[in-house]
Amino acid sequence: MEALIGKTFSEITKIVQDIAAPKFVSKQLCDWIYKKRVSDINSMTNISLKVREILSQQYTIGHIPHTKEVISKDGTRKYLFEYFGGVLVEAVLIFDNDRTTLCISTQAGCKMNCAFCATGKMGFVRNLTSHEIINIYSDLDAHINSVDKRLSINNIVFMGMGEPLDNFDEVRNVLDILTSDWGYALSPRRITVSTCGFMPNLKEFLDKTNTDVAISLHNAIKEERKNIMPVDKAYPIEEVVKLLRSYDWTKQRHLTFEYIVFKNLNSSASHVNAIARLLNGLSCRINLIPFNTVPDTPFVGADKSEMQAFATKLKNKGFNVTIRQSKGSDISAACGLLSTKENHNK
Ligand code: SAH
Repeated sequence: MEALIGKTFSEITKIVQDIAAPKFVSKQLCDWIYKKRVSDINSMTNISLKVREILSQQYTIGHIPHTKEVISKDGTRKYLFEYFGGVLVEAVLIFDNDRTTLCISTQAGCKMNCAFCATGKMGFVRNLTSHEIINIYSDLDAHINSVDKRLSINNIVFMGMGEPLDNFDEVRNVLDILTSDWGYALSPRRITVSTCGFMPNLKEFLDKTNTDVAISLHNAIKEERKNIMPVDKAYPIEEVVKLLRSYDWTKQRHLTFEYIVFKNLNSSASHVNAIARLLNGLSCRINLIPFNTVPDTPFVGADKSEMQAFATKLKNKGFNVTIRQSKGSDISAACGLLSTKENHNK
């Protein structure tokens, strides 16, 4: 049986053609799947019984509930999904005033192997399908609404497990479903896709989607970035920034550079100068991220005063700088701690 959630309007249209149903059924199907969010095909009451029967022979809605929930002291919630082939995937909900942010995963594991990231350490398992990624959103949006009627996911960051642009065929469909009127109709201003600078699909991503963009920078000195982020050897950050410069970031679409501040490692005057050279004149924000300690790595996070001093130096160069509040570290739900290698199955 094939799942209907995770299918784009054109894929649904193709299904409708294949079963020789009237054309208008495509729109009705999308409404039932993404707006009314029914859990079975039989509930689609304005679609003829015959069409529902034919559809049910091959398709299901495809809802896969999460199998585990852990709640942090600060309210952050981490979820586990068990997908086809025993694949384990994590997602996180972060609450901040009236903002509910979903941190979503696009791959089980990751190929990028950044030296400081727990997901990188677990290696690559496989790409998630559009169905599996959309299922995370639809399951958790319904779940959190059932916990508290006032809550729904109003922000999505692609900062969970995996490199979104290394699974772009599926991620493109996911973004289409999340932002289209026939889908969940979320504003692209509520969605941020984070990438380490994986160039092969970057241009297409920038051209064909309209979400906000975050680039994991972490070091602007060439030799140093290569050592902590192997992706830089194949796709140097200068090339990434060169491409980014050909887009307009002064209007609605925002560009952020993420920068983990390590203790005595990447926040000296020469690092500030390297950042200033790299990003000179580019309209963007620099978001400083506290390091979440990953076992078996030599990295140590900078303390608050070191981060603050670095932020000031960057601001003095004219940059718009923010410091990210890290949440959920007590349940390994914080940035870079998502790993399904040892945390589960115990
Ligand atoms: N692959 C994408 C998205 C996943 S990671 C990317 O690289 O952007 C989301 C963010 O968390 C990235 O900026 C990543 O570098 C950062 N991160 C990874 N490990 C971390 C850790 N241990 N502490 C804090 N941030 C981390």
